[in-house]
Amino acid sequence: MTIDIKNLVRKNILNLKPYSSARDEFKDENGIFLDANENPFGELNRYPDPYQRKIKKKLSELNQIPTENIFLGNGSDEVIDLAFRIFCESKKDKVLTFSPTYGMYEVSANINEVELINLDLNEDFQIDLETLKPYLNDENLKIIFICSPNNPTGNSIQNIKYILDNFDGIVFIDEAYIDFSPEESFRNQIENYPKLIVSQTFSKAWGMASVRVGIAYASQEIIKFYNKVKPPYNISQMNQNTILNTLDNENINQVSENIKIILEEKKSLIENLEKLDLVKKIYPSDANFILIEVDNADNIYQKLIQENVIIRNRNSVIKNCLRITVGSPEENKKLIKSLKSIN
Ligand SMILES: *Cc1c(COP(=O)(O)O)cnc(C)c1O
Repeated sequence: MTIDIKNLVRKNILNLKPYSSARDEFKDENGIFLDANENPFGELNRYPDPYQRKIKKKLSELNQIPTENIFLGNGSDEVIDLAFRIFCESKKDKVLTFSPTYGMYEVSANINEVELINLDLNEDFQIDLETLKPYLNDENLKIIFICSPNNPTGNSIQNIKYILDNFDGIVFIDEAYIDFSPEESFRNQIENYPKLIVSQTFSKAWGMASVRVGIAYASQEIIKFYNKVKPPYNISQMNQNTILNTLDNENINQVSENIKIILEEKKSLIENLEKLDLVKKIYPSDANFILIEVDNADNIYQKLIQENVIIRNRNSVIKNCLRITVGSPEENKKLIKSLKSIN
């Protein structure tokens, strides 16, 4: 690992003079603040902490990762988009993903006018290393996105270590579903791999999708560039407070309990789906959703909508496949009942 992060960063970002907010210069909480043209009246009148220090401190304690290795974004979507803006020169650099996968890597690539190389996962939805190898030496290839557990297939991706050891660019591992998975997170590997970004989110296992907070764990050097490029106050104080509250020990226990319930429900949902004739195949899942193959996905999808049950039709991506999120016990019962009525 000889390549310096700076060699991967866009020149304009390297040279960028970042916006310096009033609160960057004076960090103390107590004082008479006449520095930011805020209104002295009200309860939400002050700008929030631009670096979300309290949340990072809590995450740092929970995961034994220094706060300097943590970035918080307005959802993982911001964490993904900023990676493009830090590393990828429009119309010159490239990124690589393995399809089928999460759609935002491609959307972000298109927004930033960065070429996306899309390699198919094999029939087990795993990376085919032989297909990948020729791409690893392309010096314009800046980022490889790996989603594990993968959305929409649900499985964990193997051979990630090989890519980390053999690619000199950024390896971005999207672990949105890691808290449902028996696999270990790669966030503990950021010390060993300075070009690794591990993104996680409060949107799924933490049950905070509406709050819009995503996390990146990476080397201090990468995190510095994230902080340089991000909008100064990217997470509102209300959202910071909500996340802090979720990180209270009592609430963490509740989150763990809910994850257990979801995983038990997933098991029983699979058992019930196996009994249905219209289900041809159930793919293994380490996430909180199940990918199934049916005879006529469009038809079943539409009929479920008539029953007021909405699932995700992935027919356009994987032939005749439907993605079902594990819901509450009542919701899952209703789903099975509706599927039976279609039979
Ligand atoms: C749901 C999901 C996310 C979460 O995105 P947020 O912007 O944090 O809500 C990220 N990656 C994948 C693969 C997802 O499925």
